[in-house]
Amino acid sequence: HRAKAGTDQTAFFDTVMGESATQSFRVERDLRHALAHDELCLHLQSLIHPERGTIGAEVLVRWKHPVFGLLYPNAFVPIAEESTLIVELGSWVLTEACALIAVEARAGRELRLSVNISPRQFRQRDFVPRLKTLLAESGAAPRQLTLEITEGLFLHEIDEITARMNELAALGVRFSIDDFGTGYSSLAYLKRLPIHELKIDKSFIQDAPDDPNDAALVETILSVARHLQLDVVAEGVETEEQAAFLSRRASVIHQGYLYDRPEAAERWLERWRQV
Ligand code: C2E
Ligand code: MG
Ligand code: MG
Ligand code: MG
Repeated sequence: HRAKAGTDQTAFFDTVMGESATQSFRVERDLRHALAHDELCLHLQSLIHPERGTIGAEVLVRWKHPVFGLLYPNAFVPIAEESTLIVELGSWVLTEACALIAVEARAGRELRLSVNISPRQFRQRDFVPRLKTLLAESGAAPRQLTLEITEGLFLHEIDEITARMNELAALGVRFSIDDFGTGYSSLAYLKRLPIHELKIDKSFIQDAPDDPNDAALVETILSVARHLQLDVVAEGVETEEQAAFLSRRASVIHQGYLYDRPEAAERWLERWRQV
């Protein structure tokens, strides 16, 4: 994304990266305004199964900033995570995602979406009841929604987290471990929690065809997934070499610039509806 960043955006990044309390406060204030004034939007990026083709998409939030242009999440999600703003942002994203699933369902199309959930968002006391209400009111089928969580979520209050995940999984909601392999938690959680999918971090995929260590790590993750009967998504597939490396293994779902870049939800949906 850096290549796309213009001067204005660079200035914004400098502001953000300055990280002084006042600067964070400014971004927070602007983001609050953005939430209230429709400046956020969703981009979608395809999830591609080797035999079944596009099986869904990951939802990625963007900020159409009036001055700085299109901002990527690394410019504002970390700041939102410092406060409860991430809860509002995350809730907006979930609401929009469920609306998309429901609209497509009414037209007879089964859209599966994966939504990124911040640990702080998932830890909100009312996260589960609110999501249940949202699913019921939107009419989105729970099994078409995958929540992408990270291993960091399992570091504290694991019993409470387990109970919440079980409650949602019982409805049909799926759980995916994002950036799998980059966290610090033990693998023991994989057998205790209702997890359906592992997303191999793009840092492993990037060098896997040439770097024997990365290749070994990917193989190990695939083997763990096979034994535990979990789906696997490889993120950051950029080259034919990486795709070929993964295709030698059964049924890994691919995601990456080789297939498409994240694009505005409406445009992605137009393409998806054609096939
Ligand atoms: P992530 O969930 O790991 O998302 C994958 C990121 O990799 C996305 O960046 C995507 O655009 C990028 N990507 C996809 N294919 C390729 C590829 O082939 N090569 C490379 N180099 N990158 C690729 P993006 O959209 O900038 O999002 C960055 C992170 O921001 C996400 O990482 C996720 O952690 C977070 N994020 C995005 N949307 C949301 C949201 O709605 N809520 C929360 N809490 N976090 C979000
Ligand atoms: Mg993700
Ligand atoms: Mg990821
Ligand atoms: Mg990542």
